[in-house]
Amino acid sequence: METIRFDELELNDKILKAVKDMGFEAASPIQAKAIPLQMEGKDIIGQAQTGTGKTAAFGIPLLQKVDPKNKKLQAIALCPTRELAIQVAEEIRRLAKYMHGVKVLPIYGGQEIGKQIRSLKDGTQIIIGTPGRVMDHMRRKTVKFDQVHTVILDEADEMLNMGFLEDMETILSQLPEERQTVMFSATMPEAIARIAKNFQKEPETVRVVKKELTVPKVAQYYYEVKPKNKVEVMCRLLDMYAPKLSVVFCNTKRQVDELVEALQGRGYFAEGLHGDLKQAQRDKVMNSFRNGRTEILIATDVAARGIDVDDVEAVFNYDIPQDDEYYVHRIGRTGRAGREGKAFSFVVGKEVYKLRDIQRYCKTKIVPQAVPSLDDITAIRVDKILEEVSHIINTSDLSGLINVLEKKILEEDFTSMDLAAAMLKMAMGEDAEESIEDFRPARSLDDLDDYGRGKNSRGRGQNGGGRRGGREYGRGRDRGNMTRLFVNIGKSQNIRPGDIMGAIAGESGVPGSLIGSIDMFDNYTFVDVPDDCADEVLKAMKNVRIRGKNVRMEKANR
Ligand code: AMP
Repeated sequence: METIRFDELELNDKILKAVKDMGFEAASPIQAKAIPLQMEGKDIIGQAQTGTGKTAAFGIPLLQKVDPKNKKLQAIALCPTRELAIQVAEEIRRLAKYMHGVKVLPIYGGQEIGKQIRSLKDGTQIIIGTPGRVMDHMRRKTVKFDQVHTVILDEADEMLNMGFLEDMETILSQLPEERQTVMFSATMPEAIARIAKNFQKEPETVRVVKKELTVPKVAQYYYEVKPKNKVEVMCRLLDMYAPKLSVVFCNTKRQVDELVEALQGRGYFAEGLHGDLKQAQRDKVMNSFRNGRTEILIATDVAARGIDVDDVEAVFNYDIPQDDEYYVHRIGRTGRAGREGKAFSFVVGKEVYKLRDIQRYCKTKIVPQAVPSLDDITAIRVDKILEEVSHIINTSDLSGLINVLEKKILEEDFTSMDLAAAMLKMAMGEDAEESIEDFRPARSLDDLDDYGRGKNSRGRGQNGGGRRGGREYGRGRDRGNMTRLFVNIGKSQNIRPGDIMGAIAGESGVPGSLIGSIDMFDNYTFVDVPDDCADEVLKAMKNVRIRGKNVRMEKANR
């Protein structure tokens, strides 16, 4: 996979700055091919769909060509729906953020036409409109086409499906002869090929040629989520599957930073990796990931290329990749060296069709899943605790403790069940109750038709109820004077830093946020705790088991 950086594309500084703000790490494959051609002035047939970065693929060269000083209409993009028109206009506005004097206006049916007319008169250079409404303005002569040098047909096949063929042809026939015509379409039905023939000049076809790729044998699942719920879903999956090491992929550097902050804020050991980090910082993050101190690595595709860690148990596609090939590379980070791996993808809205294409292209199965409810997580945590309880019953002499409990039962009006349930509650931690709406099971990718509509209606999923299954430990930070403690267990015993942190916090009451760095080795671990808590921690950790293993803790020799 060759990558092209935006600063290699000879864009003007203002666009480059906006692209940087948007956090794009590199041009997506379709952008790498389409942008240089469109900048040369070529007519283009782009075969790409939503999620590939196609809007910026045509939007960047379009802006490059727009003259901010000329207040006349210079470019038109036609889109099938009002939602898409708004989205495209927003993306182009973001790209034009530093190009002062450039006005981008979405125009679509249902919006008051008088307002649109006033905005059009007010020096709009770019309109993004649905064909019907553009026709309307054309008839009213409220748009003038004489200075239009670029026209974009976005999702041309969708416009055809929606009955806009004639409108598209009428609009194209009214535009100046001397113009650039760029068409993006996921499929190439006959009528679209005819438009290309009649209205484009020697168009170049741009699509990402797919290589034959072997899909690793990894269990693949996907979840339909709303953007606002992504972090919560991520945490539930992390809590439920508790993967030792995970790699989470985001499409932008900005998203990486935001997710790192969100997960760290919730107490997870997460670090980010992307192109803005200096080499030394990257090395630090990678070392920390390799030795298990960082459990969750959040990265862009480009930054993740160098990762060669064998025991990654889960890959998360927090954003759906912009290219099918990326998907294969991403999930190949897990399931290595004969180990089992899992890949979880989040899809928002129409991205589900992108995933369906990935499934087809990769000849793989991506199974829809309902987001685990809080009850599911609770059930799993209860199972884990009870497993440890069985172990203790089988391996320890509990007669002394049984006497204590019998006494309690006699003194108070409790049953032994009441006591056991209350202790289970304590063992599960005291996270606040939360509930989240809007989680529903994902549809099967095979049930989607070719035009992006579900063949079957979907059922409603369960709403969350009950207790949240988050981890209780905080992130380690060095604060003040710390005492280094030695613990006689490490990675080889299947222990994670979070287990040690959780045990210390749970047993001693020292909050996780006060616990400093945890350096884990194969058979032992060092933990830093504040000087004035060290004795308390050592006392509390006597006779404690972590993941069913006996633990010895003592002050480390400095
Ligand atoms: P589109 O295919 O145009 O619908 O774009 C899908 C999403 O990808 C949008 O949120 C874009 O802002 C984003 N995007 C476009 N180009 C890039 C890029 N080179 N890197 C990361 N994200 C991008």
